[in-house]
Amino acid sequence: MSAAPHRFVILGGGTAGWMAACLIAHRLGQRAAVTLVESPEIGIIGVGEGSTPQLKAFFDELGIAEATWMPRCNATYKNGIRFHGWSDAPGYDSYFHPFQTALDQHTAPGFFFHTRARRTGRDVWAHPDRFFLLARLAAERRGPIPDENFPFDIGYGYHFDSHLVGEFLRDHAIGTLGVTHLQRRIDGVRHHENGEIVALLGEGDETIPGDVFIDASGFRATLIQAALGEPFESFAGNLFNDAAVAMPSARDDGATTCETGATALSSGWAWRIPLTNRTGNGYVYASAHLDADAAETELRRHLGLLDADVPARHLKMKVGQVRRSWVGNCLAIGLAQGFIEPLEATALHIVHSTLSGFIEAYEAGGFTRQHADSFNAAIHARYEGIRDYIVCHYRMNRRPGDYWRANAANQDLSDNLKAVMTAWFRGEDLEAEVHRLGIERYYAPLSWHCLLAGYGQFPDAAKLVPPEADLPLTDLAALDRFVAGCARNFAPHDDLLHRLKE
Ligand SMILES: Cc1cc2nc3c(=O)[nH]c(=O)nc-3n(C[C@H](O)[C@H](O)[C@H](O)COP(=O)(O)OP(=O)(O)OC[C@H]3O[C@@H](n4cnc5c(N)ncnc54)[C@H](O)[C@@H]3O)c2cc1C
Repeated sequence: MSAAPHRFVILGGGTAGWMAACLIAHRLGQRAAVTLVESPEIGIIGVGEGSTPQLKAFFDELGIAEATWMPRCNATYKNGIRFHGWSDAPGYDSYFHPFQTALDQHTAPGFFFHTRARRTGRDVWAHPDRFFLLARLAAERRGPIPDENFPFDIGYGYHFDSHLVGEFLRDHAIGTLGVTHLQRRIDGVRHHENGEIVALLGEGDETIPGDVFIDASGFRATLIQAALGEPFESFAGNLFNDAAVAMPSARDDGATTCETGATALSSGWAWRIPLTNRTGNGYVYASAHLDADAAETELRRHLGLLDADVPARHLKMKVGQVRRSWVGNCLAIGLAQGFIEPLEATALHIVHSTLSGFIEAYEAGGFTRQHADSFNAAIHARYEGIRDYIVCHYRMNRRPGDYWRANAANQDLSDNLKAVMTAWFRGEDLEAEVHRLGIERYYAPLSWHCLLAGYGQFPDAAKLVPPEADLPLTDLAALDRFVAGCARNFAPHDDLLHRLKE
């Protein structure tokens, strides 16, 4: 006789909750009975429209084709992020942070070499954009899917309507994977004498029992913090942004872009996310430097919507992480687990990697919590690794204004981040340093180089000298021909979006 299925109870029907429902039901099949409980009155946060390539891995694992989900979610392709105005260094007013491709092995070593030559005083080209295929594709509004005969892996993410992705995943979870959906407000939990959760308590005397509880209740963190008392470690000491205002605008005329825009404003930055039916915009800012009304006005001015009748949504952000994500029989995911502000759009990436790691650890331990400590240590390190990369964007900025100078003066830096910055400014081998620190699994050397070079963090141009004749520099004309030739294997973004609907 087979064992009774493990009862997984998920609290929360935001993107994180439905991702959990789909992944657990898909991976564990008959071994799991999955119930998701959410309160429509409380609702979901409903922002979060950009992803990393991890979201492709998630849909691929579920066996859901892009043609099935993207048109339903007004989704577009994302080649990377263009940062505008984060530096005042001449020639470095914007740069592109691409996702990785197999082609980079032909161009990244030259880029790394050039940045090091410039860091050590040679006047050589070291802006990242020219070296990366995805930057070129984004500039030409070509999507990241090559012709069939172009045999290189290309990493890419998506832009999407987060409400529609939630609805899509809900339908898949219920309709295809047999997840039970309950619409209730949860007012508390019943504890076992060992402190673990035995059941969620709904209105009246209703109890929802389970073996494993997933806290996907958003910033409220109803289970992991409120019921289990797990401490929250704030990142406010080195990430100052704690609020956002979001507002849609019309789709741009012309070809659809395949990049997120991240533009520095007076006290934070504004995102710009192209969807097939509209553009998503928002301003992430520090409330210590700007109040909500002023932030909304600044965003409206930035978008040319000062007098437009477009509603704005104001949000508070809790930036940091719970000390342990897996406590007893409860796993926190999504905003209940932590949040590192949306600059690199990593939240859903962490949801997927947390769930994957948890399911693997849980199965490996024979459905016990044997592997919880090592799992928690890995998740904690991942948050810190991602946070360091985000902090670096602020610490290295070259902009005027109180907010930006406060960020540039921030001394609350991890040892790893200090080591990266030291290697860069001393003209050392940054790629080797990132590997030595073991942080390449969070952000690869390519990302660190793009960020620091993209800001123009080099000696003043007046101090640079011509490179030695025998320095093995990249032939830039040949580089341009190579990247342009590769780009011709990629269709216009709009053609790809159109094909999805055929
Ligand atoms: C300004 C901003 C921009 C962002 N941009 C990005 C981005 O570009 N990319 C990215 O990946 N992420 C982004 N994020 C993060 C992203 O929005 C979230 O990670 C994602 O939406 C998942 O949220 P969630 O499911 O954890 O929480 P929520 O969407 O808040 O869902 C919480 C759920 O819990 C339920 N709930 C809570 N308490 C109870 C209760 N007591 N009883 C019953 N139900 C309850 C609610 O009803 C809801 O269903 C952004 C976040 C912010 C704030």
